[in-house]
Amino acid sequence: MKPVHVFNAGPCLLPQEAIDRSIEALKDFKGTGVSVLSISHRTKEWDETMDECRALWRELLNIPDTHEVVFLGGGASLQFLYVAMNYLEKKAAYLDTGVWAHKALKEAQGIGEAYAIACSKDRNYTYIPKGYEIPTDLDYLHITTNNTIYGTEIKEDYDCPVPLIADMSSDIMSRRVDVSKYDLIYGGAQKNVGPAGVIFAIIRKESLGRVSRYIPTMLDYRTHIDKLSMFNTPPVFSIFVMNETLKWLKGIGGVDAIHALDVKKAELLYGEIDRNPLFVGTAEKEDRSLMNVCFVMAPGYEHLQDAFMGFAKERGMIGIKGHRSVGGFRASLYNACSLEDVQALVDCMKEFEKTNG
Ligand SMILES: *Cc1c(COP(=O)(O)O)cnc(C)c1O
Repeated sequence: MKPVHVFNAGPCLLPQEAIDRSIEALKDFKGTGVSVLSISHRTKEWDETMDECRALWRELLNIPDTHEVVFLGGGASLQFLYVAMNYLEKKAAYLDTGVWAHKALKEAQGIGEAYAIACSKDRNYTYIPKGYEIPTDLDYLHITTNNTIYGTEIKEDYDCPVPLIADMSSDIMSRRVDVSKYDLIYGGAQKNVGPAGVIFAIIRKESLGRVSRYIPTMLDYRTHIDKLSMFNTPPVFSIFVMNETLKWLKGIGGVDAIHALDVKKAELLYGEIDRNPLFVGTAEKEDRSLMNVCFVMAPGYEHLQDAFMGFAKERGMIGIKGHRSVGGFRASLYNACSLEDVQALVDCMKEFEKTNG
């Protein structure tokens, strides 16, 4: 295999260690002689994996006793519905910072009264709105901490006068989070903590049970908290791989260590984008994402877009095409992406400048 550098936006690059362990478990799960694909989820061995995974989440993110973590199927997109079902009684506000945030809002509007409290669509979602008033009679404020498509990120935990709910699909485990400030944090695993097929939801237990509607059993977070995410068959293999990914993360020093590396990677690439006259970043500098770095050809060099794409491809860069709504390029620097990968992309940009600048 030729060397490649994977910058896919999701599903993401996973640590080789987690992939190797998963291959072993596909053949033989914990010495049982049975593949992880065929084991019963009602066995001691599987319970241990679930317990380990939950404990790793709690330890790595410092989740307080007030909160429970569950693992479910259906993707982050189904969580948009869970949120409204479990929390929307009278009125909810959504910070509209991109396509995913907007989809979450739309889903809530099918259930009750929900509106965009602020929106950055006027400049194609290149910034995070600030300074808006938050009415105190809301059921909750919903935010999307990292806007995967546009490369903007809310990098702090808001002090919010109403219950705060966050989609952290694409920046979970990239920084320390004060979980106590949120009633709910959720996301798909496939952006930073595992493969597709499983979501995480970190729920303040006492925040549930406040809505008057009937909530279908499968859409009620209480069902899954009570049954430890095993009300029905959980996405066994996805959880297994997620667990191995978190073991790897703990092994390299946890969230603080990976945050330091994520900052280094992002600074390296943004530094090159700002230095190199051929490229320009699309997101407002103060809101730049550590995870998804979006950039385009600078004015006067637009005609070189396809040439750079081909140039980078020849040098092993994978997944750097920007989302169609932004264009240009997007490099996703999720946790398993190494500093060497980012350096290879930066070298490639420098080399392209020499021959085309
Ligand atoms: C990818 C993504 C989603 C959608 O996730 P699915 O699991 O594909 O439904 C939602 N929110 C954000 C921020 C994302 O990046």
